[in-house]
Amino acid sequence: MPFSEEQNLMRASCRAFVDDTVIPFIRQNWQREWVMTPENRLPDSILQGADKIGIRTLGVPEEFGGIELESGAEVQTFALIAEEIARGDSGLADKLVQNWKVSVLLRNLAPRHLQEIWFSRLVADPQFLLAHCLTEPRGASDRWLPYNVPEAAMQTRAVKVGDHWVINGRKQFISNGYDAGLYVVYANTNPKVGMLQGTSSFLVPRDTPGLTVARCNETMGCRFMNNGELVFEDMRVPEDHLLVENDALGKAGVYFRPGKIIQASKNLGVGVRAFEVTSDYVQNYVQGGRTLIKHQAVALRLADMATRIEAVRALLGRAAQAVDDNAADADTLCNMVKVFASEEIMKVAQHAMELHGGNGVMLDFGVEKIFRDAAIFLHMDATADISKLKIVKSMFPATAGKYAGAEG
Ligand SMILES: Cc1cc2nc3c(=O)[nH]c(=O)nc-3n(C[C@H](O)[C@H](O)[C@H](O)COP(=O)(O)OP(=O)(O)OC[C@H]3O[C@@H](n4cnc5c(N)ncnc54)[C@H](O)[C@@H]3O)c2cc1C
Repeated sequence: MPFSEEQNLMRASCRAFVDDTVIPFIRQNWQREWVMTPENRLPDSILQGADKIGIRTLGVPEEFGGIELESGAEVQTFALIAEEIARGDSGLADKLVQNWKVSVLLRNLAPRHLQEIWFSRLVADPQFLLAHCLTEPRGASDRWLPYNVPEAAMQTRAVKVGDHWVINGRKQFISNGYDAGLYVVYANTNPKVGMLQGTSSFLVPRDTPGLTVARCNETMGCRFMNNGELVFEDMRVPEDHLLVENDALGKAGVYFRPGKIIQASKNLGVGVRAFEVTSDYVQNYVQGGRTLIKHQAVALRLADMATRIEAVRALLGRAAQAVDDNAADADTLCNMVKVFASEEIMKVAQHAMELHGGNGVMLDFGVEKIFRDAAIFLHMDATADISKLKIVKSMFPATAGKYAGAEG
């Protein structure tokens, strides 16, 4: 489907921001991602720049000062912008898209008075970040398989005491976990039932007593997003901070469907950047008396890169449309594109690195960063194998969708 005028305008201003600000910053400051004080890695001016062009608060309702996108095309627009930003820097894209995804969740599930408070803070402060906390040390991937049994439930527990919920547990690998101002936290509220019936979600402000940000994970790629670990010790949240009681995982579809599309789009942006720098390099770098592209083996690899990128783009367009249309196969397509993008773009990044020869592995040259960033996508938002199992589960719910352990 052709882009609307709004989509074209947003893409153009985003591309200008990436070309004029983000890419020059990354190229001139290649050491910056390795600064070991996470809060000092990305200068404030980058998120301020994102704010200026209106891409920081996508998903926030207009009445709270956000940018509301054309209805029926919201997810496709998310995809477009996420790709553009990730073409500049995938970690920056991670930072921003968490705000969009969690905003969609909040506008669907949070009580109005809390939307008013938190959307206002998000809109007012360009450095404000949101985070979504599911993964725990003893469970992540299995959550999404048919193991809907008490023993697979979350270890983080929430218990109602008077007019508060008391939460104990920990979360790991959380995007923006190190520096978010507001967290959505999932916890078990009924240990006797399966996790689909016994998991609740809560809003947790950063300054809640009992919440400790235990560490920032030093990831191999996407390093401008500060991934964090959280510990909850008798953390008390008021009862109105409960978002969904007991069937929170089912209700999280409003987060996960756009989430998978955005994930694949960021991944595509990394692939597009790989292709840009590589096609430029092979047409300028001379080896064996000829520019590289004249060597047929080089040309073949370039063709392979371009074909994989187009295949990801095609599936992405189809999946994003399915989510916007609320189509019956949207879940299946979301998982397909998330896993397909991660594997195809990894291969694209490998070609990029190899076609750059020795330069491809030098930190200051910048191409190895693309390879590192691409590798992260294999692990985010479910592993490749779990994503594939989910595809089959959604296609064959009566057989693949049944817990193998319970029935033998
Ligand atoms: C950069 C980054 C950002 C992230 N951001 C967030 C976030 O914002 N919020 C959040 O909640 N989580 C986040 N995660 C966590 C992410 O969703 C998990 O890493 C992912 O779901 C895999 O879980 P795990 O790391 O515990 O791997 P594990 O579940 O321990 O998997 C290890 C291996 O075993 C396989 N495996 C595990 N269980 C099964 C099974 N039952 N059947 C078959 N194979 C299995 C997996 O496929 C994998 O190969 C993030 C992760 C990364 C790397």
